[in-house]
Amino acid sequence: MPRRSHPIHFLHNPPPESLPEDVGEFLRQLGGPTLIVIEGQNNRRCRAVATLLHGNEPSGVRAILRWLRSGERPAVKLICLIASVRTALHEVLFCYRQIPGQRDMNRCFKPPFNDPPGHVASHFKELLAHYQPEAVLDIHNTSGMSPAFGVVTYESAAHEALVSLFTRRMIVTEYRLGSLMELSCDQQPVVTIECGGANQPEADLIAEQGLQRYLFSDDILQGKPGPVLDLYRQAVRFELQPGCRIAYADQRIPGVDLTISLDVEKFNFGVIPALTRLGWLGPRGVSTFQVLSAKGENVLPRYFLSKSNGLYSAQQLKLFMVTTNPAIAQSDCLLYACAETEHEQHQHR
Ligand SMILES: [Zn+2]
Repeated sequence: MPRRSHPIHFLHNPPPESLPEDVGEFLRQLGGPTLIVIEGQNNRRCRAVATLLHGNEPSGVRAILRWLRSGERPAVKLICLIASVRTALHEVLFCYRQIPGQRDMNRCFKPPFNDPPGHVASHFKELLAHYQPEAVLDIHNTSGMSPAFGVVTYESAAHEALVSLFTRRMIVTEYRLGSLMELSCDQQPVVTIECGGANQPEADLIAEQGLQRYLFSDDILQGKPGPVLDLYRQAVRFELQPGCRIAYADQRIPGVDLTISLDVEKFNFGVIPALTRLGWLGPRGVSTFQVLSAKGENVLPRYFLSKSNGLYSAQQLKLFMVTTNPAIAQSDCLLYACAETEHEQHQHR
């Protein structure tokens, strides 16, 4: 048994032929959180990948297994955390984000570290301090259908270069929740990559192709000229009040507080003009939700308005992480919105 404070097992240079093709079988072999260490061409340098922090987000571990089975040596040493192995194997493969009753692994990278996911997080922090990787990727899938995007905690050339190995959409978040990417600093940049929905075949492809670029390029922190990043900054969260009843339909549903248009996902990562209808309000009007800035201020009137029972954008907005899953809308948020008036793009440095 690993010590409680050191729950991560190690696997050094597994022979490719020892690895099963089936990812479920691979996870059963690992048995628990594992750090895979692979020697590269140049072992004076190191890079890190973390994935499967959420047990229902398989694209990252699938990409890693495919690469490990190829036996191709990376440019530099790679350390690779496969985190929530037991969650992924819980009952049905890739079904649970976290084991029921446990904390979300990607909220555990700040104290307290006194529970199973906290032990894994603090052990991984120690391993990062030990191996000193020049960059860290954290590979996820979105909960619904979505194009790929990256998330960073502040803007920097290194963050942009890492994200653009995978995608051209980059969210700069001001929310501090205890996620792995919040450990990012200029000496050790950390980015989150959301490859798209867990059931979208293109998400697996994005993970695989981005990982290849990350593994085999000599320099991953300097962006190549040309590609342009689509930036999302100062996002606000559309949160339902406790007890708010939400429905998704193509017309107003009587008796619910908020009816959201069935096709609302089409606004994901797009620009919507002012006075675009997103749905319909019940008798309690806009009081059943709030729109919160990262500072926690309710900024609803700047972003949304009510007009003859319709819910409309109050100005031109860019929306992302729009969910059509009522459970996620209730427990987390319905969508994020940015009020940037222009569809801002960044020329790569
Ligand atoms: Zn995730």
